[in-house]
Amino acid sequence: MGIISLGCAKNLVDSEIMLGGAAKAGFTLTKNSDDADLLVINTCGFIDAAKEESIDTILEMHERRMTARPNQKIIVAGCLSQRYSAQLREEIPEVDAFIGLDQVSDFARIAQEVLEKEPTSAAPLNLVTRRSRYIPDYSTPRFRLTPRHSAYVKIAEGCNHPCSFCVIPQMRGRHRSRTIASVVAEAKQLIANGTREINLISQDTTYFGMDLWEEKAGPRQPVDSSRGPTLRRLLEELDAIDGDFWIRMLYTHPAHWSDELIHTIAQSRKVARYVDIPLQHIHDDMLSAMRRETSRSHIEGLITRLRAGIPNLAIRTTFITGFPGETDEHFESLLNFIETTRFERLGVFKYSQEEGSRAAKMDGQIPATVKNKRHARAMKLQQKIAREIADARKGQTMRVLVEQPLIARSEHDAPDVDCRVLLTSPLPAGEFATVTITGSQVYDLTAQLA
Ligand code: SF4
Repeated sequence: MGIISLGCAKNLVDSEIMLGGAAKAGFTLTKNSDDADLLVINTCGFIDAAKEESIDTILEMHERRMTARPNQKIIVAGCLSQRYSAQLREEIPEVDAFIGLDQVSDFARIAQEVLEKEPTSAAPLNLVTRRSRYIPDYSTPRFRLTPRHSAYVKIAEGCNHPCSFCVIPQMRGRHRSRTIASVVAEAKQLIANGTREINLISQDTTYFGMDLWEEKAGPRQPVDSSRGPTLRRLLEELDAIDGDFWIRMLYTHPAHWSDELIHTIAQSRKVARYVDIPLQHIHDDMLSAMRRETSRSHIEGLITRLRAGIPNLAIRTTFITGFPGETDEHFESLLNFIETTRFERLGVFKYSQEEGSRAAKMDGQIPATVKNKRHARAMKLQQKIAREIADARKGQTMRVLVEQPLIARSEHDAPDVDCRVLLTSPLPAGEFATVTITGSQVYDLTAQLA
């Protein structure tokens, strides 16, 4: 069997679980779709562009099998399938089965059932269950799709926030955390097998554990370990595992940051000095229309506390331009905030009007030309800032994780989304090295062995 995994790292972990279950059940895995009797397309449904890519991939792979392997079965999985399986079943009857997020752990059995189905004899199977509740644990078989030295660990699934532009909670369900013991057991296995970087992922990483508290945590609840399991306690336990590795947190919601969490990161030996904190906007009108459950003063205060509390910190964030009702004044305040805060890493997205979201029905939708112009201005500004930040690194010595013999990442760079450190001579892949920065190429740094 083969798989095409689209979308984010959370979807990638689901792909790894499906492959892990299939491998355990005796399926042979192949990278070449033409050799596969069964092909899984794990789709993304985050924004329109991602939906289009998913549908195009399904149609393209169906076309391909007609000539290359006519008896091949196609299963469509992932967020798009979870949300639109009934509609897709009518519109793309060529697919053999649709499965959702809760079927990934039962994948091997389903795969066998689909393989035994008569070729195109009936309408596609629709096995999607409505409300996603599944969460993996440390004993879930996984077939890793990332290099051995860097792994994603999903610590929770779903989201309780009501952001008006986002449909993820409708697809992935309410927030549900794994136990600390389960995450630690998985991390230990990975580290024993040579993993040098554990990337903790979820929709809302700072909320980790709070859904397990006896007394319900509110939407702006800061991390507070006196009340139950938290990200802070998880980081402390991970930090205590023997071995040389980084722990990186991705997708932290600003509402839940607290001083105890900042202090824990500052004290830790292995947590990367890197905070990924999607902010989406800074103007209070926009934050409130986006239903972000934060405010300008909260965000500004938090960034000051983060920078003061964690030396050598890199902050990564994302912003949305062209959200409904965004005026020139709102946008200028965002640009000004980017200029003064000088984020080390920044992504900017054009607002996408998502069917089923509150924001899609709002007045004041912004024309594409305005969205594009604002996006370009924000990116241009960030390019200037990124170049200055990279230039200032020249001459510094830093520890990097070597990805490929001539490409490495610093603790300030998450896999796939951030910058690279380009090496002047090859170093062993999958190991740490200490290098001296010799120059920069806009976002990327160049370096030689120290
Ligand atoms: S925090 Fe907001 S943007 Fe992020 S997944 Fe939850 S609802 Fe979507």
